[in-house]
Amino acid sequence: MERSNPPAELTPAVAQKLTATFKATGESVWQIDYIKRALAEQSHNKCSFCECELGIESKYLEVEHFAYKGSYPEEVVAWDNLIAACRRCNGKKGVHDVRVEPIVNPYANNPRDHIRMQAYRLQSLTPVGDLTISVLGLNDIQRAMTARFKIGAQIGETLEQLKEKIEFYKEKQSALRRAKVANCLDALLNECLKRSPYAATAATVLHRESIYPELKEQLIVLQIWTVEFQELHDSSLALVLQKPAP
Ligand SMILES: [Zn+2]
Repeated sequence: MERSNPPAELTPAVAQKLTATFKATGESVWQIDYIKRALAEQSHNKCSFCECELGIESKYLEVEHFAYKGSYPEEVVAWDNLIAACRRCNGKKGVHDVRVEPIVNPYANNPRDHIRMQAYRLQSLTPVGDLTISVLGLNDIQRAMTARFKIGAQIGETLEQLKEKIEFYKEKQSALRRAKVANCLDALLNECLKRSPYAATAATVLHRESIYPELKEQLIVLQIWTVEFQELHDSSLALVLQKPAP
């Protein structure tokens, strides 16, 4: 994830005042609409840790302090320390001290340097990855793995549909059938973009399905695969939870 500039309202003077208030009273000075809005925009309205969509099914955006506010009160509204998270991840992380025992910082690290996905389970590649998975409970069956499994099944289903639509188009190359192929491909690749919930899972599944490169080849031959589709493909590749082969 990329860190944008702090919201215009959060000037150094305002930040200083809020920090002083927090230190004196313990008030939740970070609960400000403009902070939440800016964080939501940056994270595409997703939890920065588990990728769930915020604002639905009681999953509201919480302002997470990467360095715990109780231990690092100076950073209570430091822009670089604030992260959009769901209640579950924010709660799981709790008072964990990332300065003593680092976990993946979604703004500073590329998750795939530390974590990969195998059959919807996350596996650590490094001690940092191991701690991230454990502290945030990213392999909890109920909340985390089921959601990943669902999105993976959906990608598989859309690939099947795309295959059918391509066959259909090959039988009779009408504009309508061609448009249906293109729309299906567009929907598929859009599931794997940063802004989509569980995009890392979706992209990982897509690029591991052996049928995908086959369909891509066919689409190139049929001249349906455009520069735009190639760009969407490349963006999705960047999210795959597996280090690219050297
Ligand atoms: Zn979360």
